Amino acid sequence: MQIGLRIDVDTLRGTREGVPRLCQILAARNIHGTFFFSVGPDNMGRHLWRLLRPQFLIKMLRSNAPGLYGWDIILRGTFWPGPIIGEKAADAIRQAALDGHEIGVHAWDHHAWQSSTDHVAESTVHAWIQQAADLLTRLTGQPPTCAAAPGWRCTDGILQDREQFPFHFNSDCRGTSIFRPVVESKELTQPQIPNTLPTYDEVIGQNGITNETYNDYLVGQLKPDALNVLTVHAEVEGIVCAELFEQFLDKVIAQGGQFVPLGQLLPSTRESASNPIERGKIVKQVIPGREGWVGVQAPVG
Ligand SMILES: [Zn+2]
Repeated sequence: MQIGLRIDVDTLRGTREGVPRLCQILAARNIHGTFFFSVGPDNMGRHLWRLLRPQFLIKMLRSNAPGLYGWDIILRGTFWPGPIIGEKAADAIRQAALDGHEIGVHAWDHHAWQSSTDHVAESTVHAWIQQAADLLTRLTGQPPTCAAAPGWRCTDGILQDREQFPFHFNSDCRGTSIFRPVVESKELTQPQIPNTLPTYDEVIGQNGITNETYNDYLVGQLKPDALNVLTVHAEVEGIVCAELFEQFLDKVIAQGGQFVPLGQLLPSTRESASNPIERGKIVKQVIPGREGWVGVQAPVG
């Protein structure tokens, strides 16, 4: 069984501390994954505060957010301008590329993306991706080969914009199988590799799931005969939950599981000639444990 491993990096601290730790953890097990970097200003504190309403407070308390993210992340960008992550933590990004991990664009400004993808101009979204891709290219010497929308917030306009970049695939939604998006009756060229599994903050504290039972729960969600894609966060699995994550990796490896970068899940040209990738679209949906909507795979109407 193959499990696509996606690592989202949202903040300066996640890049500086979480990424090197994850690189160590993965190297020790000879695993490669796909790192999606946010490289522009870290305004994530602003993002967390914006969500400060009762439901979010309950979630903060339930998941012990200050312990999980650190107060510096929660305050980042609230009282002072956010630092440019790609400049302040260039070495960590370079290291991930040197270690042979697949490198993709997550965001220029994660906070701006999550709070405004619904209403921002398409030219602005394009400029964000271009800026992030340019800085990643400068840092790693290679253009990023894929992209993943922050918070799985992806619209048809964003899907169309992806086609202007030389990405091999994108991972912009939740779903169950690899598909080629159809927008305005036109099939796009870049396949989607959806995230199939819940994230740590979505399930911890829900239905009695604790750190003691989390790994067993997650292993139970893996499907031997279907697509498996797990998203971990440099801020969580690379820092406070690093040991828990190591135990998860070892548990899955002991059962014969193999972690791979997302790009390795794509069918080869020969395979797809005889069995073409299905078509699909991305619709907005609310899912358990997450604020607001996310993009979810749906059949073409
Ligand atoms: Zn993110």
